[in-house]
Amino acid sequence: MKNIRKYLHPIIILVVFEAVAVTLWLTKNNLFYLFNFSYIGLSISLGVFLFIRKYKHARRIVQLLVGLYMLVYLGLICRENMQIEGFWYYLFTGVFEAATIHYAVAKIFGPLIFGRGWCGYACWTAMVLDFLPYKVPAQPRKRIGWVRYITFSLSLIFVAALFLAKVGQMERIMFWAFIVGNLVYYGIGIALAFAFQDNRAFCKYICPITVFLKPMSYFSLIRIQCNKDKCVNCGKCKRVCPMDVDPTDNARNRKNGTECILCMECVKNCPKNAL
Ligand code: SF4
Ligand code: SF4
Ligand code: SF4
Repeated sequence: MKNIRKYLHPIIILVVFEAVAVTLWLTKNNLFYLFNFSYIGLSISLGVFLFIRKYKHARRIVQLLVGLYMLVYLGLICRENMQIEGFWYYLFTGVFEAATIHYAVAKIFGPLIFGRGWCGYACWTAMVLDFLPYKVPAQPRKRIGWVRYITFSLSLIFVAALFLAKVGQMERIMFWAFIVGNLVYYGIGIALAFAFQDNRAFCKYICPITVFLKPMSYFSLIRIQCNKDKCVNCGKCKRVCPMDVDPTDNARNRKNGTECILCMECVKNCPKNAL
């Protein structure tokens, strides 16, 4: 009984993902959804299980399991554009399939429950950026977050222009847009990480998906909270945070609150178990 309580979170995660998997499988009559959401649910619950067991690379394992699956299997083998251009594309064609479901679950409505868990545990861009040397930003935050609205608009304009011009072979173009888009993201992400001495600079200033993620995660059910009775204001949690969040402030509008990727570095490093 004690063990069940200890591992309640990975069990709940598994059950929720299985419920989504079975519901989509039966309603869409497509076995892919059963496989897809079962795999992702299993990967995430495995990560949470390892985290409870205090395995220090738990998050990275989930990131690699889910990120590589999305990038290599869904993107390159199944030729599904899972980037934001793919979302616009399937939205314009009125097809409620993998990319639109993926966005709805992971990036638009899901963040109301699990915040920016996507960014901490599943994104294949950050999966690579997190290997770089600047895990904690070595420079103060820049005031260039507005760039994300430009990249967001460009992605929309790009796909809208293809539709307006009635370009043929759209599936093929979207596949190549996925490959080129990813290479560009990796190139800019790595360059910015070194320029700003911050692995997550791309996430903070450029990523167009944050236009969805940030407002939705403001209302997130799951969030890091500080027990003020235990906290001794040592500041360690703020120093190890890759996203410049102040986890000691419980207010929703805390400093960079919508940047939290639930990486748990603050929790792991708090000497008083206050988070
Ligand atoms: S902000 Fe964008 S690039 Fe960074 S982890 Fe989230 S989705 Fe990925
Ligand atoms: S690390 Fe823990 S004790 Fe130190 S400031 Fe953060 S919450 Fe408080
Ligand atoms: S260190 Fe804590 S506050 Fe910062 S992103 Fe990770 S979980 Fe969120």
